[in-house]
Amino acid sequence: MAYSGFRLIREALTGHKGWKPAWRDPEPQAHYDVVVVGGGGHGLATAHYLAKNFGKTRIAVLEKGWIGGGNVGRNTTIIRSNYLLPGNEPFYELSLQLWEGLEQDLNYNAMVSQRGIMNLFHTDAQRDAFRRRGNSMILHGSDAELLDREGVKREAPFLNFDNARFPIKGALMHRRGGTVRHDAVAWGYARSADRYGVDIIQNCEVTGFKIENGKIRGVETSRGTIGAEKVGVAVAGSSGKVMSYAGLRLPIESHVLQAFVSEGLKPMIPGVITFGAGHFYVSQSDKGGLVFGGDIDGYNTYAQRGNLPVVEDVCEGGMAIMPMIGRTRLLRMWGGIMDMSMDGSPIIDRTPIEGLYFNGGWCYGGFKATPASGLTFAHLLATGGPHATAEALRFDRFEKGLMIDEKGAGAQPNLH
Ligand SMILES: Cc1cc2nc3c(=O)[nH]c(=O)nc-3n(C[C@H](O)[C@H](O)[C@H](O)COP(=O)(O)OP(=O)(O)OC[C@H]3O[C@@H](n4cnc5c(N)ncnc54)[C@H](O)[C@@H]3O)c2cc1C
Repeated sequence: MAYSGFRLIREALTGHKGWKPAWRDPEPQAHYDVVVVGGGGHGLATAHYLAKNFGKTRIAVLEKGWIGGGNVGRNTTIIRSNYLLPGNEPFYELSLQLWEGLEQDLNYNAMVSQRGIMNLFHTDAQRDAFRRRGNSMILHGSDAELLDREGVKREAPFLNFDNARFPIKGALMHRRGGTVRHDAVAWGYARSADRYGVDIIQNCEVTGFKIENGKIRGVETSRGTIGAEKVGVAVAGSSGKVMSYAGLRLPIESHVLQAFVSEGLKPMIPGVITFGAGHFYVSQSDKGGLVFGGDIDGYNTYAQRGNLPVVEDVCEGGMAIMPMIGRTRLLRMWGGIMDMSMDGSPIIDRTPIEGLYFNGGWCYGGFKATPASGLTFAHLLATGGPHATAEALRFDRFEKGLMIDEKGAGAQPNLH
């Protein structure tokens, strides 16, 4: 069923009786050409592009829980292409361009809203670093603008410009960045993949791999063995655990990241704002809640809930730049498991096992990457070789010393 304004009016006039489930609920078949493990944003996007761009139809996405129950439905919804390094920026720019046409591609309203991102800076040295980043973004086809203090005041006059410790001196503005309704991305990709014939199988946990003579033959699951020519793993925070079933140890640690939503307020925050002297980022949802977050909790865990010291740290960051939110009540908070790689950048690559491919290491920035991750992982699965924009995102960079250390924090995920 195609969605359209006409369809909406028709259903409204006929009691909404004609809507159909957005995707089927099929039984797993015995064998597929490609099995994608993980029904998060990246797994579902991979299935969509495999079917759409490469004409593959015998595909299954296996999800241990429900579609949208992982990080794709837990993030703070920010999309952007404001990276510095050549290994990263072209990839995130490709992703942003795909976001720009996504709703037409999927025939689904994902509420892509390019409301802009302002990264505040508080020192002269930080201004220089942001100027350099902005130049890199422009050179890679993205957009960037350096705002001075007055420029920031015009965009967000309510900020605390004269904080004694962290005066706001300006911001790097990225107008094409913004937010997307996160779970609509999972639903949109799921629905589109299903329409191409992909089987989306929920409540199906992968518990092992079938490997014969160094070649993948399929997966063991909670619903039986499923054969496959190729298997692509995109399980985000569970990367280390799932790949250990194939005897592989990854340069990845799992950490928790929390998100927060306040009670609904009148519209006040124009786009996304990030604090430059601590870890705090905020936007306002269409329902009025402030959606905000900060740093990871800093210890290894597979638990999807966080701890109080980070709550305090995040709220302090918020109070430093916008003390007016001090009396706002927090409505909800939750955690998600981050697959933190050793240089803070992702991995999309084949593995030493023939036919087994890996997509992960997204740290806390993988939502914005969803379309490009799906597109380039589909390319890898279909052709066996890396997509041009994902060439740097390989395992061997750790062996060769070609790290994509965007933050200069080295191999310390707790510092990213
Ligand atoms: C609080 C928070 C805030 C964030 N904010 C942002 C942001 O603003 N911008 C941004 O770009 N990124 C953000 N991120 C990061 C982003 O959400 C993730 O990097 C990205 O969603 C990970 O990819 P995914 O969608 O495929 O993951 P997931 O949705 O987690 O998908 C992985 C799926 O694999 C499934 N799975 C695991 N093990 C198995 C198994 N054995 N068998 C079958 N299935 C399995 C899981 O159930 C899960 O559904 C944030 C993350 C969190 C938690």
